[in-house]
Amino acid sequence: MKISNLKKLKPKKLIVFDIDGTLTLTKAPMDPEMAKLMAQLLAAKKVAVIGGGKYGLFKEQLAPLYRLKLSKQLLEKLFLFPSTATSFYRYNSGWKNIYALQLSLAERNKVKKAFRTVLKEIGYAPKRVYGKMIEDRGTQVTLSTLGQDVVAILGTKRGVALKTKWAKENRELKMKIGRMVAKLVPELEVHVAGFTSIDVTKKGIDKAYGLKQIQKYVHVPIKDMLFVGDAIFPGGNDYAVVRTGVDYVPVTGPEQTKEIIRAVLEKPE
Ligand SMILES: [Mg+2]
Repeated sequence: MKISNLKKLKPKKLIVFDIDGTLTLTKAPMDPEMAKLMAQLLAAKKVAVIGGGKYGLFKEQLAPLYRLKLSKQLLEKLFLFPSTATSFYRYNSGWKNIYALQLSLAERNKVKKAFRTVLKEIGYAPKRVYGKMIEDRGTQVTLSTLGQDVVAILGTKRGVALKTKWAKENRELKMKIGRMVAKLVPELEVHVAGFTSIDVTKKGIDKAYGLKQIQKYVHVPIKDMLFVGDAIFPGGNDYAVVRTGVDYVPVTGPEQTKEIIRAVLEKPE
């Protein structure tokens, strides 16, 4: 259920955050203020982070939090579900991978070929590509229309601005690529999710699947979770969570997420 008034929220055991556009700007590290708030939140609650990016990217985005030198006790309350929860990492004297739902090599090759075929067919040739356009992440294959490393190469400000601009101007094109790829790999699921990226995974992988995985592996029922995300609207990559009945709060970006964290911290148990 959508929570419009946090004062009316029942106490929750676990706060689940989307990462891109919620805890951080797209693919960027979280800012120092967010890192501090997350550390405070971990002292009070369990926290899970879920996003389309792979674990390596999560690590970079969460680096400002790790730099606060959290105690082992706090790190053990942080649960990471990269690649839309097709993998899971938890802290137990170091970060450990608990599972990874890999696509088969044949599936991955088929998706890569499908992306190449579609890009060729529509004649998509951007002026500059930053890093790889098609990336095999094992659990998913991702097309990044401007390349994987826009933000890493251009820096947060310019990189995010370029991606935002592209997303605004090419919404239709991205949907079209998604539809065409879906026709070529009907046995898999195509997610036209991020600003500039399209992910292909096994069927049934979305944030609802993610919450169920969190429930199963962190042992907190969905009714005791609060989900915070920037794309909880039809067509948005957080929208699937609504189906699970979880209590959720939509945000427009990290600044609003900070407000939510402050509100949760102020809430008496
Ligand atoms: Mg997001």
